[in-house]
Amino acid sequence: MYRKLLRYSNKIFNLFSIIATITDERLKPQIATVKIVAAIIVMQFSNLGSLNSLSQAISVKNLKKDIPSVSTIARSADSINLEEIRGVGIEIYKKARKSKMLDPCHGMWVGVVDGHEQITSPYCKCPYCKSRIVTKKDGVKDIQYYHEFTAFILAGPKISFILDIEPILPGEGEISSSYRLLERVCKNYPKAFKIVIGDGLYLKETVFNLLEKHHKYAIAVLKEERRQLFEEANRLSLLSEPKVYRRGRTYYRVWDHSIEGCWDGYGKGVRVIVSEEATPKRVHSKDGRVFEDKLNRANWMWVTNLPSSEDPGSLKNTVSVCHSRWQIENQCFNETVNTWKADHIYRHSSNGVIVFLLLLFTCVNIFNIFRMRNIKDKSIKTKIYLIELIKAGFHTTRNPLPSILSIPPIPI
Ligand SMILES: [Zn+2]
Repeated sequence: MYRKLLRYSNKIFNLFSIIATITDERLKPQIATVKIVAAIIVMQFSNLGSLNSLSQAISVKNLKKDIPSVSTIARSADSINLEEIRGVGIEIYKKARKSKMLDPCHGMWVGVVDGHEQITSPYCKCPYCKSRIVTKKDGVKDIQYYHEFTAFILAGPKISFILDIEPILPGEGEISSSYRLLERVCKNYPKAFKIVIGDGLYLKETVFNLLEKHHKYAIAVLKEERRQLFEEANRLSLLSEPKVYRRGRTYYRVWDHSIEGCWDGYGKGVRVIVSEEATPKRVHSKDGRVFEDKLNRANWMWVTNLPSSEDPGSLKNTVSVCHSRWQIENQCFNETVNTWKADHIYRHSSNGVIVFLLLLFTCVNIFNIFRMRNIKDKSIKTKIYLIELIKAGFHTTRNPLPSILSIPPIPI
């Protein structure tokens, strides 16, 4: 399975050729950057979780001379050009989109933006480290350092595709970092999405205007009760009848209000979508003997400048699109940490952290497409099982390295 994945990446995405465009700033490099990037990709694909496990797994096979040393990989990661790695991501996206490997979300191309705390460390090692004081159980106060970033993904019905990340620097908030991220994503992926969804933090005229400048619509969660928009939407909901429907097991009561003049900073009319959702659930009773029927209720409100005429389906679709914001939490943040070890610090430097994350996301994107399109074997049901098969393939193959790694080093 490991060989199959490597062959697929190379045949379909030309992966080991396009990474040759990546450079770094070492002064007299003996080992080409492409070999370093290839070694990182091998490590991420086979889910080894650290540079040391890669080095150990390779030394068992007597191939250590073919792979750059742990310290060389780590040192090079400090200066690998991030824009060039992003360029590789763009190439992979273009191929995937052109070959119809990605699908729109409920008829719309939707991007999701959110911030996340990725790694924590007891040591401050780079200028991107943010710090906070944590009180441990025994009352001892300690400084903890951590890295945060904002991420942008393309939501989809089967898989989500991670497009880019941007660090949140010390002294700045999520929104400042997201401006840089949104500008870059709109420039690098001009036609990839039409709508951008964010949580309550993104309900800002600056975000809406920035996206409007790039001809994109915005959706943001509305949860501030003191806000005039919130009050007005609630008033209107009392006066009008909702649209009532059922989708899956959930019952919806949805209102779609057009409101003008309640958002001073923005100055234009917006739609506020209100959704009251109830999902019946069967749970164990407290004594564990019988089942009880429960109703899980949730209330949601979103603000958007998406005109109703742009909805290809109906209000039902728009509500589903609004809910696709969860994909960034589940498929980008939680899954990459739980199954791909994205919270491991491979190299603690401002550049190194981003290099490893961007390359990991490239691998995860390819893996997800590979799983969706190439795995016909019905016995491979879960993602974890497939990852284990790939890892096993890496360990059992005599030479698991892509041919690019056997090119001799550059003579000085
Ligand atoms: Zn740091």
